[in-house]
Amino acid sequence: MPSATDQLRAYVDYLRDMGIHDLYRHGEPLAPEALAALLAEFTPPQSPAPSASKPTSTANRLAPTPASMQPHRMSGISASESSPFAPPRTPLSLNLAPSPEPIQPSRPSFLEVPIPRPKSFDDLVPLPATLIPPEQRPEALAAIRALIGDCTRCPLAYAGRRNIVFGDGDPNARLMFVGEGPGADEDTSGIPFVGKAGQLLNNMIAAMGLRRDQVYIANIVKCRPPANRTPEPVEANTCSPFLVQQIDVIRPEVIVALGGTAATYLLGVKQSLGSLRGAWHGCRGAKVAVTYHPAYLLRDPSQKGEAWKDLQRVMAELGLKPPTKAN
Ligand code: URA
Repeated sequence: MPSATDQLRAYVDYLRDMGIHDLYRHGEPLAPEALAALLAEFTPPQSPAPSASKPTSTANRLAPTPASMQPHRMSGISASESSPFAPPRTPLSLNLAPSPEPIQPSRPSFLEVPIPRPKSFDDLVPLPATLIPPEQRPEALAAIRALIGDCTRCPLAYAGRRNIVFGDGDPNARLMFVGEGPGADEDTSGIPFVGKAGQLLNNMIAAMGLRRDQVYIANIVKCRPPANRTPEPVEANTCSPFLVQQIDVIRPEVIVALGGTAATYLLGVKQSLGSLRGAWHGCRGAKVAVTYHPAYLLRDPSQKGEAWKDLQRVMAELGLKPPTKAN
């Protein structure tokens, strides 16, 4: 009987062979007895033994595959026949008969993890009935930061994060900007939007006649996704409740969603940026405008004029005037 560690390792190898590389825990950890029972059901796959017997109907339909490429951990056993955690037990028998059409190996149902649909921030928790008095807001934000602690709630905690990037700016800001997630510079400094995209955001804020310390800036996720990839739904959904609390403390009049990821999670919709721009949306009692992410504008400066149109709508809403030479 292989050890539990060997069984688990073989199971993870099996998932990798199926193309699954990101493994997240769902729900609470299993009790040791339940885990032992599941592991006992799992027999590490054997190398395929050359078979002289009549091929199975599934094997019959397999296209010829060089022996070196045989998917040695696959078989024709259907997901429903096996335990939800047990990989197939029947070794694949070789069959080199030509096939009319190649078939895809069936994907066990337990691997069909549903991708969580984004929920709008308004759907997460009811809006608090009372406002936090302005003088208490810095302390209230500090309490949320303390609650986050040295967070290990999602995979980003184990993906090379250096600092949790909480948020920056005026706890009583009328205007809030929400980006996607920290990049390398933000991860190093612990402050959102300080890299190249941050410099452009500073310029955008200045063009609106504001200083950076008069607005509040935060991100959908507070830890840097590796290689600046888009946050996974599980990461964004895990982090969102903290941003909801920050918004509920600050209660900005307007939130600018910078880019598609911010819009998706704030509004709970997966729509093109083009279809979201130019209209007012709502989130936690604030009006939401959607515009291009500054990093996108750095890649395609021809869209800066469009972004400026979005910001001008925000300025009109807040009664802001662009700075004159005199001020
Ligand atoms: N991009 C973001 O979305 N957020 C940052 O803080 C920096 C770059």
